[in-house]
Amino acid sequence: MVLRQMSRQVDMDTIVSLCKRRGFIFQSSEIYGGLGSCWDYGPLGVELKNNVKRAWWKTMVQERDDMVGLDAAILMHPKTWEASGHIESFADPLVECRQCHQRWRADDLQEARCPACGGELSAPRMFNLMFKTFMGPVEDDAAVVYMRPETAQGIFVNFASVLTSSRKKLPFGIAQIGKSFRNEITPGNFTFRTREFEQMECEYFVKPGADEEWFEHWVEARLNWYVDLGIRRENLHLCQHSKEELAHYAKSCTDVEYLFPMGWSELEGIANRSDFDLKQHAAYSGKDLTYFDEESGQHFYPYVIEPSAGVDRSVLACLIDAYDEEPDKEGTRVVLRLHPSLAPIKAAILPLSKKEPLANLSKEIAAKLRKSFMVQYDDTQSIGRRYRRQDEIGTPYDVTIDFQTLEDNAVTIRERDSMKQIRVPIETLEGALTRKFAGEPLDVLPEGGKLWLGWE
Ligand code: ATP
Repeated sequence: MVLRQMSRQVDMDTIVSLCKRRGFIFQSSEIYGGLGSCWDYGPLGVELKNNVKRAWWKTMVQERDDMVGLDAAILMHPKTWEASGHIESFADPLVECRQCHQRWRADDLQEARCPACGGELSAPRMFNLMFKTFMGPVEDDAAVVYMRPETAQGIFVNFASVLTSSRKKLPFGIAQIGKSFRNEITPGNFTFRTREFEQMECEYFVKPGADEEWFEHWVEARLNWYVDLGIRRENLHLCQHSKEELAHYAKSCTDVEYLFPMGWSELEGIANRSDFDLKQHAAYSGKDLTYFDEESGQHFYPYVIEPSAGVDRSVLACLIDAYDEEPDKEGTRVVLRLHPSLAPIKAAILPLSKKEPLANLSKEIAAKLRKSFMVQYDDTQSIGRRYRRQDEIGTPYDVTIDFQTLEDNAVTIRERDSMKQIRVPIETLEGALTRKFAGEPLDVLPEGGKLWLGWE
């Protein structure tokens, strides 16, 4: 693919509007006026989100011999959250305006007055971010359970079962993708901070003493993952937590940050959690959660390195980073320069006419390609408008079927980023597209292919 010439920072309203218009992300329960800080992924959004999760799973689980996957339940035994420290300390300082009664996170405020009306603020009190619900038909205290605020604890409580069943030796990791819930005091910035979101977390268990080296490994590996997704390196940086900023369980922590429209903000945190979690769960459950090291004949608690990423924030960063505008004949061309592996639609099938004799042939081509990847068939409006529509949703290649196709059995492939075209025999189309998705330059032609001056 051709890299963009210029880099520009888009504002959040432009992204929100594109997402709604094209079907990436909608406000939750919009017909009822919306539900604060909850968002629904539309037809294109669900594809993009699945592609991000697939990319993570491939890198973290499929391509590694030292990692296994897990899918734990959202509802867990309430003791889990006592052991982890969430009941006692998973809280943010909340202040309330005495005048307009809006509530704020005290540590987010620049000034000592209400940002909405300038009113006087109450003294801060700690507000626990966990959502409570009731399990079973009786709504009493005994039945209280929590919606998990992170997926990590599902991994720790399954440590012994995974160890025994997978027969893994240290170092090894357990990876999980799933929903988490936090009753954030001030959600906002679109999908950046919401109350229901998805996490991609890994707990990587190592011998005590090897933790610092593995921590460095994971910081590097996780930063590179975002670069491989197509996010520009200059829009990413690492931010190391100072001793005062560290969570109660952490020995060290570094965040991968992205330059969002509201400034540098966290995409992912990589923490050295020491042996805190396994020790806590062993103490609260009475179960043996140590590791037996055959070499030394010793039992010990492994140390844990945790790369913890947000699906929604990754999707948002990909959208923002991919967004580009450039002048064209009709004013402005909006292009979402998504990496082909992330693009919701990999190829658009565009017949030059919606009637026979092109319609049937075009539908046949679409049906064949559909078995291998996501395609979209579009025969409405002018070809130029259809190209623009695909550019705006990030489709890396457009396939045009024209009247000459009936004579030469060939179609054109148009590249989103350069708008250049090649003409290839139909029987080579799928192979050619697959190679282009993997990074082959457009002008590397299949047999019988040629460069083409196209329809724009
Ligand atoms: P923040 O400081 O932004 O509140 P955090 O440090 O509390 O985040 P972690 O507990 O480390 O976040 O969670 C790991 C990842 O989960 C974050 O890096 C982020 O990508 C994602 N995440 C956490 N909270 C939210 C949220 N409310 N909405 C969307 N994603 C979230």
